[in-house]
Amino acid sequence: MKFGLTGKVALVTGGTGGIGSAICEVLAEEGCKVATNYRSEEKLASLTDRMKDKGLGIAGFRCDITNDGECETLAQQVEEALGAVDILVNNAGITRDTTFRKMTGDKWRAVIDTNLNSAYNVTRPLIEGMMARGYGRIINISSINGQKGQIGQTNYSAAKAGLHGFTMALAQEVARKGVTVNTVSPGYVATDMVMAVPENIRNAIIAQIPVGRLGEPAEIARLIAYLASDSAAFVTGADISINGGQHMG
Ligand code: NDP
Repeated sequence: MKFGLTGKVALVTGGTGGIGSAICEVLAEEGCKVATNYRSEEKLASLTDRMKDKGLGIAGFRCDITNDGECETLAQQVEEALGAVDILVNNAGITRDTTFRKMTGDKWRAVIDTNLNSAYNVTRPLIEGMMARGYGRIINISSINGQKGQIGQTNYSAAKAGLHGFTMALAQEVARKGVTVNTVSPGYVATDMVMAVPENIRNAIIAQIPVGRLGEPAEIARLIAYLASDSAAFVTGADISINGGQHMG
């Protein structure tokens, strides 16, 4: 325990995924009571088992984060089960890559809904309580490709850049109430998604990373634990890159 998070309640969206599960684990190790949404019972069971093996707990609630009504219910269920939410990590996300000329409305909207509109859906029911209690930590997971753009990702880059606009505006609105809002922009991380990329392409990506390797999910998670802590009270409205030096701006 390094970050003084004992007893804090954390909601991590997309906790069943590669980076989300590491965030859940590190926050639970730091003493948080951790909740996540899920869509697949199987993936939740696998996360629960992995955490249980390490002596850690996780509370799962079914919720599609593109649905605002379901997100209101999620907030109520988490607060009834674990208590008022102190830490929100808007982590769930998807890609639907294709060049803009081939970008269908469905691919565009799915990515904007999941990566950007979800931040509204999940944050809105929780923000009043955080402000009233005078404490809150909101961490939005963006991407290196929201900072620099990426061929084949107009939808994803737009959503992830938009997410940081949301961070900066909300950070200013809530700063006096003890609530911080930050963006974390990871580069390429060794999750199943990235490890499924053919080895030659993955090696070409790694060749562009000055530290010479992919990031580890736990490295992202430990940055989030710091941002969630009291020690990070003066960090707000920031977009923190964690990308092995691949993009510096
Ligand atoms: P994963 O695909 O492993 O996990 C994504 C998570 O989001 C899953 O739990 C998934 O649930 C959930 N999710 C997706 N859509 C919805 C939805 N509509 N409602 C509820 N839950 C949903 O991704 P990563 O762990 O790799 O990525 C996590 C975040 O980090 C994302 O925002 C991603 O954009 C960002 N990122 C990732 C990088 C990487 O290299 N991996 C690099 C930079 C940023 P389900 O399993 O049910 O689909």
